[in-house]
Amino acid sequence: MAANSPRVLRVAVEAPQHSGLGVPLDYLSDRPLPAGSLVRVPLGQRELLGIVWPGEAAALPGIELRPLASVITSLPPLPAAWCALIEFAAGYYQRSVGELALSVLPPELRKLSDAQLAKRHTLTEKRLPEPTAPAEPAPRPVLSAGQAEVLGRLEALSAGVAAPVALLHGVTGSGKTEVYLRAVQDALAAGRQALVLVPEINLTPQLEARFAERFADRRIVSLHSGLTPAQRLRHWLAAHLGLADIVLGTRLAVFTPLPRLGLIAVDEEHDPSYKQQEGARYSARDLAVYRGRLESVPVLLGSATPSLESWQRAEEGRYVRLSLPARIGDGGLPAVRLVNMGLVPAQKGVSTAISPPLLEALQQRLARGEQSIVLLNRRGYAPVLHCGACGWKSGCPHCSAWRVFHKLDRTLRCHHCGFTERVPRACPDCGNLDIAPIGRGTERLEEQLQTMLPGARVARIDADSTRLRGALEAQLGAVHAGEVDVLVGTQMIAKGHDFRRVTLVAAVNPDSALFASDFRAPERLFALLMQAAGRAGRDAGQAERSEMWVQTWHPAHALYAALRRHDFAAFAASQLEERRMAGLPPYSHLALLRAEARTIEIARAFLQAASEAAAEGVTLYPPVPMAIQRVANVERAQMLVESASRPALQRFLGRWAPLLQALRPAHKGLIRWAIDVDPLTI
Ligand SMILES: [Zn+2]
Ligand SMILES: [Zn+2]
Repeated sequence: MAANSPRVLRVAVEAPQHSGLGVPLDYLSDRPLPAGSLVRVPLGQRELLGIVWPGEAAALPGIELRPLASVITSLPPLPAAWCALIEFAAGYYQRSVGELALSVLPPELRKLSDAQLAKRHTLTEKRLPEPTAPAEPAPRPVLSAGQAEVLGRLEALSAGVAAPVALLHGVTGSGKTEVYLRAVQDALAAGRQALVLVPEINLTPQLEARFAERFADRRIVSLHSGLTPAQRLRHWLAAHLGLADIVLGTRLAVFTPLPRLGLIAVDEEHDPSYKQQEGARYSARDLAVYRGRLESVPVLLGSATPSLESWQRAEEGRYVRLSLPARIGDGGLPAVRLVNMGLVPAQKGVSTAISPPLLEALQQRLARGEQSIVLLNRRGYAPVLHCGACGWKSGCPHCSAWRVFHKLDRTLRCHHCGFTERVPRACPDCGNLDIAPIGRGTERLEEQLQTMLPGARVARIDADSTRLRGALEAQLGAVHAGEVDVLVGTQMIAKGHDFRRVTLVAAVNPDSALFASDFRAPERLFALLMQAAGRAGRDAGQAERSEMWVQTWHPAHALYAALRRHDFAAFAASQLEERRMAGLPPYSHLALLRAEARTIEIARAFLQAASEAAAEGVTLYPPVPMAIQRVANVERAQMLVESASRPALQRFLGRWAPLLQALRPAHKGLIRWAIDVDPLTI
């Protein structure tokens, strides 16, 4: 072949699976380009960003190929390991390589020319905050015996032949963060980069601050959805160019190219926010484990309440379990008190949101100047408005759901489609003036606590109170500054905040998750309550009188019994046994096919046809409407696919997806369909 004859390259471009252009496309290049090179290519009338993809071009005879439009020379190619991670994730989650690859790159890459990117490249080098390099390294706390042992084991494991996946199970307040910090330090000392994943960055400002303080002499960048496009590009470039030593980010950051990667840590590995809920529905936690194996770097998964999937892998010896069973300073965990709501005498006209013994406990804290947290996982004032005369309820006209009553701005808001209206003065059906709220959300609880605890400073943190940028930080700051006596909120307040003066945490109505149709609901409830309990008594001096209160109608439930003993292992064992008997994950592997259509009949018909098109090898359950069947006037149904073998499920899905694509034209009115592999909610 002559030196200058054009070569055929495979190029991944953004084309969804559905377009039929799911595989990398072939283009001509007048020079060889390494895989991972960024290029621009013509597609139809457009010019798109593409990535030269590894592997041989098919070079079909008789098809005239177009040449590349241009090559981006200002940036190094994406690493081979990055392409391999994308290729695996695309296959596993049933998306096209190009769609996934382009969706995880900073959007600015598509807009800027090679010359502009060259400028950004230089700017990134210049603008990156120069490490301050203190003469004396920041003082480091003395390790507890448990931390020292865990780090010793981790170091020994990392020196072994295969990079380990370690599950760090540490009770809240046991100092998991210090373990991450030391492990990161070891990676950096070896000249490597560290990737630290966190569930939601705005809920963990303290973690970011601790990394910044400890590694003042290093370059740290964050990657999350709160960045401007320009910031995101700059931080991504710093990682990709090998300039940043530490990348701290949310699930998207698992795809950050890191030429010197030496460690991946995943904090709160059980957190559902690691699962992407649209597009490619990937699990960043699972991909972190895959990436660790791919690049031979240790992976550290940390949690006080590990996911049952990870726990089971540790039980089987596939992950190494490291435990931190004690709180730092040997402060005890808060005593758990169950209030049997069945024994609380009902008083006519008196709300039982807060039982008399819990009220008394709150009053005691108030008298001692200590803080309390009251948890209710439902925002708004009341979940529904109701007319006692005719039975009208505040349904959403666009969804099969009630609209929530928000008293502060007198609105009825649908939490599914966002449809909002002023609260009607009278019942829209019969004109009755006396329409009343049923049930209770955080707004109403806040109001009731204000009445029950006169003089107390009651504050509320939930998705409504923190809508404005900076609001959450300000509200958390007020709690830290001691300007709040009682904090009411949803699960947002249970996350990793390090409140020092909280000695009481109460869950007022957690029972509904015990009997939910989703088999993961108890696991999530247990994690939430353990995490919430962990907010109490973080100051060792107050640990002794710290309490977690749970108001329940089912005080004998096994979940609460395990909670009382802070016994995650017992809870996990009982849940895993139930799952084994029922053939549920981690003992089976699931995928969901979801269909959205103009009518429920169309959605069902598509799923039915999909079921009939299926080859054997898996169990297909009948199509069912989703729990909330209609959202924003779209009808939704789903079908569960189950297999005892993950490879068998993967093989099935690989054959099935093209058949589904072929079915689509026959189903007019079908809006979209999607496969969710390892779904988190059923
Ligand atoms: Zn009415
Ligand atoms: Zn709605």
